[in-house]
Order: sequence, then structure tokens, then C-alpha cells
Amino acid sequence: MKIAAIQHFSMLDYPEKMSAIIFTQGCPLRCAYCHNPDLQQIKQETISFDEVINFLKSRIGLLEGVVFSGGEPLLQPDLYKAMLQIKNLGFYIGLHTSGYLYKKFCEVLPIVDWIGFDIKTSFKNYEQITGVSGSGNIAEKSFLKMLEYRDKLKFEIRTTVDTRNITFNELQEIAHFLERNSIREWILQQCILRNKNKDDVILSLPNENELKELRRIINIKVRS
Ligand code: SF4
Repeated sequence: MKIAAIQHFSMLDYPEKMSAIIFTQGCPLRCAYCHNPDLQQIKQETISFDEVINFLKSRIGLLEGVVFSGGEPLLQPDLYKAMLQIKNLGFYIGLHTSGYLYKKFCEVLPIVDWIGFDIKTSFKNYEQITGVSGSGNIAEKSFLKMLEYRDKLKFEIRTTVDTRNITFNELQEIAHFLERNSIREWILQQCILRNKNKDDVILSLPNENELKELRRIINIKVRS
């Protein structure tokens, strides 16, 4: 497992659970707004999995969950084994993912407790955001597979609103898709572009009227 970093504590990354976050290296997608571009490439292993396990053993009874984030955790060949080992220590398992890597996603679905699933845009236009042709078909397939586990696991569906590459019509399409699949809530995340000088550029979210339109279709939470 190629681990870039471990965050020892978070209340934000797994709803209502005190969690540690494992950031894995590598991502097959190239989202223009990527918040962790340093994790797109696989570099030298910086933290061994044994170190992570030792840390987690010291937090049994103090932390409730462990979230795999990245990069794209599904890229790790030994993800299932790592999750199982951590679950056997008594932690809930969370996963932040784009769902891109269908087989790996199916492998871990039975043991994951919570998923933060990123829908990038309407599935037919995925390449616009991810830079990878065919990524929308795979993400959609993974999303529909995840719904087969909806009685067993919890999930959150979120979209980062990169207004340079996503239109209001596309947001409407996603909203309708979610509604058709009986999803009750959708999170719209504000897109923050970080440049080298660390001057953040914050893209605006849909305006009030647009949000009102979208809320006629599905319940929306805005995360800035
Ligand atoms: S899927 Fe996530 S980690 Fe990968 S390029 Fe997109 S934003 Fe970055």
C-alpha cells in the first residue's frame, strides 16, 4: 500500500465518527480542480502500513473510524486486505472515491461502512472534468453497484462545482439521475483552485434561482 500521509483525527471526513484519514498515493484521473495534485502520482512510500496499524492500535477505543482517501484509494492492489485488517481492529471503514476502477470497488463494497462518492458531472461528459475518456461509464457502473448495498452501507453523494467545466444543465441532469435512483440528498461543494502563489480562487456556486430549481428535484446541501 502506497501511503502518502495519515491524518490522526478528523470529524469532517466520516459523518458523526471520530476518524483517522489514510491518504493513498496515485489517481488515474486528472480533474482540473484536483485538491491533492501531489497525490496523483505514485512516489516513494512515505509511511509503511505497519506504522499505520501501530498508530491505530494505540487509538482503539478513542477513534471510531478510518477513512481511505487520496488520490484514489481503489488504485491500491491490497486495499481489501488493508481494510479488513483495520476493520478487525474494530474500526468503521470509510472510503472517499470516484468509483473509477470498477472491479476493485466491487471487491471492497462488502466491507466498507461509509462511502463519500464523487460524481464529477453528468456521466456522458466526464472526460471534460477527469481528462479520461470512458471514465463516466465506469463511474456510473460503480455508482449503480453501490446502490445494491444501500441497505447495508451509508453513503454521501457529492459534486465539486467546477463552473469552468460543468453547466447548470449538467447539474440538473445529475439531480434527475439521483432522484430517479431514490437518493435523498446531494452535496454541492464549492470549487477552490489553488495556484502556486497560494492565492486561492473560489468559484461561485449556482445562484439562488438555480439552487431553487435544483432543490425542486432533490434536497441539496451546500458545502463551502
Ligand atoms: S479523482 Fe480526486 S484525487 Fe483524482 S484527480 Fe480527481 S480530484 Fe484529484
